[in-house]
Amino acid sequence: MRIDVITAFPPLFDGPLSESILKRAQEGGYAEIVLHDLRSYTRDKHRTLDDTPYGGGAGMILKPEPLFECIETLQNERSYDEVILTTPAGRVYNQKLCNQLSMRENLIVLCGHYKGVDQRVIDALVTMEISIGDYVLTGGELAAAVIIDSVVRLIPGVIGDGESLLSDSFMENELDCPYYTRPPEFRDMKVPEDLLSGDHKRVETWRRKAAEKLTRERRPDLLRKAPHGNDKEQKS
Ligand code: SAM
Repeated sequence: MRIDVITAFPPLFDGPLSESILKRAQEGGYAEIVLHDLRSYTRDKHRTLDDTPYGGGAGMILKPEPLFECIETLQNERSYDEVILTTPAGRVYNQKLCNQLSMRENLIVLCGHYKGVDQRVIDALVTMEISIGDYVLTGGELAAAVIIDSVVRLIPGVIGDGESLLSDSFMENELDCPYYTRPPEFRDMKVPEDLLSGDHKRVETWRRKAAEKLTRERRPDLLRKAPHGNDKEQKS
């Protein structure tokens, strides 16, 4: 999979892309993540990225010219499955959408900044708008990092024990169960006996029940969804 990220602030990706799973996925050739500095697609002397909004008001808007130039340059090189804009106005991101994106070949992720992006970019070039939740970030870079991280870890081979992904929260409309590791007793707190039994069936039953209990307590909304997140979809 190739992901092209368009941003006015490439250094914001330094940490997320250079550690842990994302680092390994890139080194192992599972994911190619290419950052594009929006400023290098400007043509004026001051390398201007933004301008004031028509109609007045606070905040600056990312200008259309560098964004068109950047996206169209990329699209001339290869075809993309989606051009994603990170925006609070987008479809709210969840595991189902993440699973779908992980099966794509080429994605562009465009990071908004300031007050937003000129609407003509969205109308002409963006195919999917994604919000990572009902709150406002300074820029789309952290949202893009969240999307990239969650998508890339699903690419087969990226996580050594791929089976562990299947029991993660949200894969089956449930939260994952609680986990324990050694020692079996710590400060008078004991690991549940079923987990120490060595009996695979007992362990599985304990985990299934514990996951169900946790989900019922904390996220009963998940249990009301159809299996495999086949719930009614919000249009992007
Ligand atoms: N004026 C915009 C609004 O109220 O909807 C917020 C702009 S925000 C300060 C700057 C950029 O951060 C946005 O263009 C978007 O790319 C990104 N952003 C902010 N919150 C986000 C969220 N919840 N999900 C995805 N991207 C977000």
